[in-house]
Parts: sequence; structure tokens; C-alpha cells
Amino acid sequence: MLQIAPTWEARPWDDPSRMLCVDVARERILAAFAPLPAVRVPIIDGLGFVLATDVVAGTDIPPFANSAMDGFAVRAEDTLDSSDASPARLRVIGQAAAGYPSDVLLLPGTAVRIMTGATIPAGADAVVRFEETDEAGHGVTAGAGSDGTIGIMRPAKPWANIRPAGEDVRTGQRVLLAGSRLRPAEIGLLAALGRATVLVHRPPRVAVLATGDELVDPGVAPRPGQINNSNGASVAAMVRRSGGEPVMLGIARDTPEEVRDKLRAGADADFLITTGGVSVGDYDIVKDVLCDVGQIDFWQVRMKPGKPLAFGHIHGTPMLGLPGNPVAAAVAFEQFARPAILKLLGRTDLAIPTVLARLADRVENRGGRRHFARVRVDATVEGYVAHLSGAQGAGVLSSLAAANGLLVVPEDLPAGEVGMTLPVQMLDWEVG
Ligand code: AMP
Ligand code: MG
Repeated sequence: MLQIAPTWEARPWDDPSRMLCVDVARERILAAFAPLPAVRVPIIDGLGFVLATDVVAGTDIPPFANSAMDGFAVRAEDTLDSSDASPARLRVIGQAAAGYPSDVLLLPGTAVRIMTGATIPAGADAVVRFEETDEAGHGVTAGAGSDGTIGIMRPAKPWANIRPAGEDVRTGQRVLLAGSRLRPAEIGLLAALGRATVLVHRPPRVAVLATGDELVDPGVAPRPGQINNSNGASVAAMVRRSGGEPVMLGIARDTPEEVRDKLRAGADADFLITTGGVSVGDYDIVKDVLCDVGQIDFWQVRMKPGKPLAFGHIHGTPMLGLPGNPVAAAVAFEQFARPAILKLLGRTDLAIPTVLARLADRVENRGGRRHFARVRVDATVEGYVAHLSGAQGAGVLSSLAAANGLLVVPEDLPAGEVGMTLPVQMLDWEVG
């Protein structure tokens, strides 16, 4: 059989055995991040953020026993032998509505007309629904019979239709744990406990700098040889989607001075992200300046796209240098920057939500790298099915726009074959 030497043998920097594995690179990067300090915010502003402390209930929920139905509060023993034919007849001695507790005491033979949410009057131990009484009209506005009595037509079980105090949450109970992400349900629970504010880890400020002599901002017409800076906007959008606050540092020309100056503007950020200028051939300028003002390593990561990567610290701030090719930058962001931002936010679930999908197209994977292919995943009755979403060049943004996932072809698999089941990172799924 004809052996074709892989091209990387001729280019030592492309030798997979000299590259860092994606997981090792991610671990090294994540080791440089820790959750940011806590801030107190109004509870609804905490949506999506992570609790910095446990929440211990200072009150019962519900705070008092209350009715789960509209009906009559009774003593269950008064209704023992009741039926349609011979209702238990009780004297109605008062009314209780939500927010208006009745202060009457239920003595044997009496009942209180009660609405959902109203405090159970003393002496009552069951609520009988209107439908199980002979009250005409069965409604909020209907009253007791003209003689001031109500007929109960079913025996009530003790505690029927009563929500006891603390049924949901008991005083002293640890209801939410530090590290939980606040969703609407957690925010509702905090409100039910009477909390107006909550302590969450503050969101990171993430400075974004694009490097490249060829770049001009969107809105500026490119001259010959120039292109619009797409990475600045897409990286900032990914920062925001991950829960960070992007700080735009603009574009730096490929000179040490400009890269250094622009990076200084991001010195008070929690995290610096650059794009471009890290591939073999052109990283030397950037490398020199970065090594001058901080400690930066330049890595080749065993992945495709997104192989060149830089990581280190500038002025004490962690800095990630993403590749310049727009899709390589996006894929590397998802693998390395997203979990770093989540860690700053206090999250512990750092992985991208992943499903198993059956491949409908063949995906080549020569070169022994982990291949992240842009795919469109559809949920079918047979499970998830993944189609390539278009051309897979590292600069082809339109196929990323057409994708909802990144299919992961392992390093040691020369191709993802049609019918194979492989993991897909779902880019638009939020984890709870
Ligand atoms: P580099 O990593 O700087 O060698 O860039 C690799 C490729 O990505 C080149 O074709 C660049 O023109 C392109 N590129 C770099 N930065 C950006 C950017 N911010 N927006 C769009 N394309 C870029
Ligand atoms: Mg460049």
C-alpha cells in the first residue's frame, strides 16, 4: 500500500506530538482563574449570576397554615357521616380571605367561608371545597344558605386542602447553595423568603483587542488589502453571552509599541483577550512585546481550527491570545475563554452542553488533531442528527452562522464516517 507521508513531517511545528492536547491547554488556562469577589445586587439583577454564599431560610414558606382551595374551613370530625342525602349542617360564623385572617374560633358545629391563601382559623382542621357543599352558586360572591348554615356533603379528611406552615421551606433550612446559578426559580425563592438583594460573584470585565495591519472597524470602508475587524465584535458578543462585560480596546497595528499601548488600556480588566498575531511567521513582534511586559507562552494546540494560541499574564492580568482566523478564534474562545469566564463568575459547570449525534456527512480528520466541525444538529425521532453546515475553512464565518454545534472528531480518528455517533458541543444551549 502506498504510504503518503503526512505533510506535518516536513513541518516540525505541525508535529502533533509537539502540540498541547486541548484538555491540557484548558487545564493550564483554568488554573489561572478563580471566582471574583461578591457584590450585593437587587435580586432580579442577579439573573444568570452565581450565588456567593449559601442562603438559609429566616422564615417558613408558607409562613402560616393556609387554604389550598376556595370552600369552608371545618372541623373534620363534624363531617364524618355526611353525604348528598344527609349533609352535615354547620353554622357559618365568618369569612376568611387571602390577606384578611379571620379571628374567630371554630367550635363544634361551625364553619368559616374561606378563600385560597387565607389563614386557617383556629379550631379548623380541614377545608371542604365549595363543590362538596350545598352552597348555591359555588362562587366567591355566593354566600351561605339564607339560614346562615352550610351543608357539607362529603366527609373531610383531617388536614385536607390545608397547606401547613413550612410545607415548602422550613426556617433554618439551607435552601440555596453557594455556587448555584440564579434562574427565575431561585429568584422567586429569594423573594418568597423576603430577600430584596442577593450576594453574587461580580461579572468579569473582559478586554478585547484585535491585532492586524489589515483591519479596519465595521462602518469604515476597507481600502485595497484591508478587511473589516470581525473578531472584535464576535469575541465581544461571546464574552457577553458567557456572562462577562466586554471592554473594547479596538485594533492594534502589528507593531510592538501599538500592541503594548493598547494592552495597557486593558490593565484594569479581569481578563484580556487578543486575536491574531499568534501563528508561526508573524507572532514574533507580538511575542517580543508580550514577553517584555508580562509572561506569555505561545502554544500549538492539537486542534483544528484554532491551533495557535498564546496564554499568560500582562501586568498581572490573565491574557489569552486567540488565532486571527475568525472561526479559529471562535472555536478557541468556546474551548478556553468561555470556561475561564464561567470560572470567574463562580460557576463550577464549565463544560459546553454536549449531545451525541449521528453523522449524516463524512468529516475528514487528517493530521492527528481534535477537529471541531461546524454542524447543524436536528432532533429527530431517532435522536440527534448532525449535518455539516458548509465549508470548513478556518476563515469561513457563514458556515459558523449556519451551525448550532461543533462536532468533535477525536485526535485519533482519521475521519468521522456517515452513521457514526460523535459528541457535538451545542453552542446555543444555556446550562441551568
Ligand atoms: P493572523 O493570525 O494574524 O495571522 O491572521 C490569520 C487570518 O485571520 C488572516 O487572514 C487575517 O487577515 C485574519 N484576521 C486576523 N484578525 C482578524 C480580525 N480581527 N477580523 C477578521 N479577520 C481577521
Ligand atoms: Mg495578523
